[in-house]
Amino acid sequence: EAKGLGRNHVCFYAPQMHEKILERVTLDSSFRLALQRNEFVLHFQPQWSRERKMIGVEALVRWIHPEKGMIPPGVFIPFAEESKLILPLGRWVMQSAMAQLACWQETTQLRDLVMSINVSVLQFTTVDFVSEVEDALTQTGVNPAQIQLELTESMLVRDQLDIIQKMQALKKLGVLISLDDFGTGYSSLSYLQQLPIDQLKIDQSFTRAIEESDKQASLAASIIGLGHNLGMEVIAEGVETQAQFDWLKNHGCDLYQGFLLGRPQPSNEFVITEDTN
Ligand code: C2E
Ligand code: MG
Ligand code: MG
Ligand code: MG
Repeated sequence: EAKGLGRNHVCFYAPQMHEKILERVTLDSSFRLALQRNEFVLHFQPQWSRERKMIGVEALVRWIHPEKGMIPPGVFIPFAEESKLILPLGRWVMQSAMAQLACWQETTQLRDLVMSINVSVLQFTTVDFVSEVEDALTQTGVNPAQIQLELTESMLVRDQLDIIQKMQALKKLGVLISLDDFGTGYSSLSYLQQLPIDQLKIDQSFTRAIEESDKQASLAASIIGLGHNLGMEVIAEGVETQAQFDWLKNHGCDLYQGFLLGRPQPSNEFVITEDTN
């Protein structure tokens, strides 16, 4: 088999390095092709209220590779960032997520959902970002108040004035802003307080730690308190057990997302499983 031969051959001189370069080149060309061929799909993971009502979804991108099958974003997002291909992919995600919401807005059951969309560092840093969001809103005609952009704490470290101005411009469009993976970065409290953030998203690592010890759990409680003191909504991600859900609920968490409540799924399989417990 040609592939095997190639591998043995490069092993002779520069095994790892050569393979890495080879892998990269292959990834690069297949990723570009994937963009042209539209091999990406969005899955949607439900977000629930304290009363277990589904009030939102997060759009999560997947690459359906013709040979390798479904490739999770953890594998290709870092590469997409590095190669700047995240820019066309990010525009596609933004458009498609809003188009899906526009479609759901025609059905009575799903019409009020908030659609959360992940934004990458590079995407947020481009000068055109705000106008791209505006264009997507105009083209799809969705209600901006039902669009929530997920930024990460790690992207707040650069030019603070630029970040504040961009966030303010986004708020002017009427969209919501969520801070994803919160608690894993290093934003100062005085800085956080200056940002027009609507929601803090507790990172999965804190949710997981709740059942480990009281000391660990106190971190999640502190984030809930911090968010509420700053007038923000707080959502926990990675909720996998009933015990985590109950604990978070007892500590005032507003929203919940995780395998306990629903896995990411394609839009056509989207069914409302409203649980009134
Ligand atoms: P994220 O935004 O923090 O998304 C949450 C991740 O946790 C998702 O993984 C989701 O499937 C997973 N998850 C949800 N509930 C649970 C749970 O109960 N337990 C566990 N163990 N995991 C859970 P996914 O879909 O593989 O996405 C990984 C990351 O890739 C995302 O983390 C986000 O940073 C990035 N990503 C995904 N879609 C996009 C996108 O469209 N654009 C950009 N820029 N990044 C994206
Ligand atoms: Mg996210
Ligand atoms: Mg997250
Ligand atoms: Mg995360």
